[in-house]
Amino acid sequence: MKEKIKRFIAGMFYKNRVPSSLIFYGKEGIGKKDMGFELSMSLLCLEDKYPPCNKCQSCRHMKDFLQKKTEELRFYGEDKKGKRVYLYLQGDHPDFIYLAPEKAEIKIDQIRGVKDFAYLSPVLYKRKVVFIEPADAMNPYAQNALLKILEEPPLDTYFILVSQRIEKILPTIKSRSFLLEVPPLTQEELKAITQIEDPLILELSEGSIKMANQLKEKKHIIQTAKDILQGNTYTLYKKSLEVENWALEDQVLLLKVLQAIIHKSYLESKSYQDRKALDTISLGLEYLSKGVRLSLLLFQLKGGNKYVLHKGEVFGPKQDTSG
Ligand SMILES: [Zn+2]
Repeated sequence: MKEKIKRFIAGMFYKNRVPSSLIFYGKEGIGKKDMGFELSMSLLCLEDKYPPCNKCQSCRHMKDFLQKKTEELRFYGEDKKGKRVYLYLQGDHPDFIYLAPEKAEIKIDQIRGVKDFAYLSPVLYKRKVVFIEPADAMNPYAQNALLKILEEPPLDTYFILVSQRIEKILPTIKSRSFLLEVPPLTQEELKAITQIEDPLILELSEGSIKMANQLKEKKHIIQTAKDILQGNTYTLYKKSLEVENWALEDQVLLLKVLQAIIHKSYLESKSYQDRKALDTISLGLEYLSKGVRLSLLLFQLKGGNKYVLHKGEVFGPKQDTSG
C-alpha cells in the first residue's frame, strides 16, 4: 500500500503539482510522519528528486535535523508584549521549520512565527516547507490563524501536516488542503518491517509499527488485557489496582490492546455491548493523560451493563430486555 502512495506522490512531484497544503493522516505508528518528512526533503532537495537525493546540502541539513535532540532545535521569538515565546523547531536548514507543540498545544503565537517565515524568500533553493506535526495539536485559534495564511498561500511555501486525529482539524483547513490517507500496514508488511513473528502481536497491532514494537517488549500487557476481559470481577478488581501503578505509556498501550481485541469482536458481533466498550476506550484514550483513572475506566468497560454474580463467576452482561 505504501508503494502505491509513494508512486502517487512521485507523480505529483514530477508533474510539479504538489499542492501547497497537504495533510497526511491515518492511524498512529504507520509511517505518516516519515512520508511527510520525505516529501518535505524532496521539495527542498537541490537535485529536485523524490525520494530525495540524500546527498545535497539541503538533504544533509534535513538528515541532520532528524538526528538532533528537540532541545537543540527549539527556536524562540517574542510575542506582542515582547515576552520570549517558543515558536517552532529549526535546525541548520534555513527553509524548513517544524511546528510542534511545546507541551500539549500549538498556539496562535506559533502561527504568527510561521507567518513571518512563510513570506520570506527561500535561501537555499526555490521552496520552503512548514511541517506541522501533530497538526491536530493546533488549538482553534491557531487553526484559524493558519487558515488565514492558507487563504493567501505564499507561492514558494509548502505546508505539510501530519495527523492521526483528522476530525480535530477544522473543515475549512481540510477543504484548502489535499488529504492523503495513509493506510495501516498489512500483517505481512508489518512482519517484514519489524521482524516480529508472533501472529498475535501482528494482529493486535492493527498495522502500527510503533504498537508492534511496544508489544514485543511488553508482552505482559496482552495477558493483562485478556485477564481483564475474560476474568471475573475479582480478577478485574485485582488487575485494576495493579495497572493503576503503571506508567501512563503502558496504560495507554493496555487500552489500545483492549481496543484491538474488542474491535475484532465487534466486526463479527456488531453488538451494542462492543460498540459501547469501544466508545469508552476512545474516551479513555483521550482523557487518560488528563487524569482520568484507568481502574474506573476498566470497570466501566466491563460493567457498562450490570454483570450478574453467580456462584462466584460472572455471567453477563445480562440481556437488556427493556430496549
Ligand atoms: Zn538532495
